[in-house]
Amino acid sequence: MTKYFRSGRLKQIPPYLFAEISRKIARARKSGIDVISLGIGDPDMPTPKHIIAELERAANDPKNHRYPDYEGLLSFRQAVSDWYKKRHNVSLDAAREVLALIGSKEGSLHLSLAFINPGDYALVPNPSYTTYRTATILANGFVHDMPLVEDNDFLPQLDDVPKEIAEKTKILYVSYPNNPTTAVAEKEFYKAVIDFARDNNIIVCSDNPYSEIAFDGYRPLSFLEVEGAKDVGVEFNSLSKPYNMTGWRIGMAVGNEEIISAIATVKNNVDSGVFNAVQYAGITALLNTPESDIAALNSVYQRRRDLAYETLTSVGIKARKPKATFYMWCRVPENHTSASFATLMLEKAGVVVTPGSAYGIHGEGYFRISLTVPDARLEEAMARIKKTMA
Ligand SMILES: *Cc1c(COP(=O)(O)O)cnc(C)c1O
Repeated sequence: MTKYFRSGRLKQIPPYLFAEISRKIARARKSGIDVISLGIGDPDMPTPKHIIAELERAANDPKNHRYPDYEGLLSFRQAVSDWYKKRHNVSLDAAREVLALIGSKEGSLHLSLAFINPGDYALVPNPSYTTYRTATILANGFVHDMPLVEDNDFLPQLDDVPKEIAEKTKILYVSYPNNPTTAVAEKEFYKAVIDFARDNNIIVCSDNPYSEIAFDGYRPLSFLEVEGAKDVGVEFNSLSKPYNMTGWRIGMAVGNEEIISAIATVKNNVDSGVFNAVQYAGITALLNTPESDIAALNSVYQRRRDLAYETLTSVGIKARKPKATFYMWCRVPENHTSASFATLMLEKAGVVVTPGSAYGIHGEGYFRISLTVPDARLEEAMARIKKTMA
């Protein structure tokens, strides 16, 4: 008997994808299978030592044991501003155009709570990272799917959004380099996004946590590099992926002052900010990480990418060779659905891949693997996939 009935908004949230995968893994492990999970994008390498040392120093300072400022230390926000200037040649006023986040994930929900009224729409790519959808639902908004299909290089077709939906839309989500499709976007695309947002009075949210994870010399853009971006939107970025800091929970929202200030008002009432010592470590990460560290990280992922690409294509799987992100987005073999292929891989190879359908119906027919497992495990996983598919 159910005693406490969940809210309507919570009932609309599909089970968290990775919680289900974890259950399946647990079941397989219990039955004695040595499961290798390529399911979750969570860096396997440790946070660099200089960042940990700064956390230790800052954690020992009693000043940092008290409540942080909810918007973030000005010195952290200044470090974000300096980083955007150096990396993207984007100027940001640290006091008004930068906000510390407890990871980029939190930002989406708080953006929704700041702007979505019941019945308002958000334009959400499909497939996509699930948070944009659930954040909209939790704010009692509606989701309008923007299909990402291979023929359009996994870029949404803004012309396809019906006028009457655009009129009721408050937020448009874009995220390149893209999880899960690994697609990237260039200036022309962002220009069209900015025009569309301006014409329809829509907020653009560019979620950009993979801006530093790229290969073969490719340098992903920030949405804010494009003229007019700051008039219509914000970008979320995160220390999680470039500095192997997923567990630390620190990121940032940057861009339009009015939007930043509204998110800050929500946060002021919901959370009390990021532990100051983590923010000091974040400053060190942003300003004192040698570029060679990021290059070394990317060369590990690039090597893994090449191994996975060679293996998968050798057994007839159509894989995209990504320019950025630490994922591979691949077509399932003929006569398989995303789910049936993921099940086959778990049961026959002991390898977890994520069914593309978990990211939305337009992900059907694909699967995603993450390159965030140690080399030896990835090699073992590839050997098993090869054997299973032979
Ligand atoms: C990993 C990831 C995030 C999460 O970032 P956090 O800062 O750790 O919350 C956000 N968006 C996308 C698309 C991601 O893949």
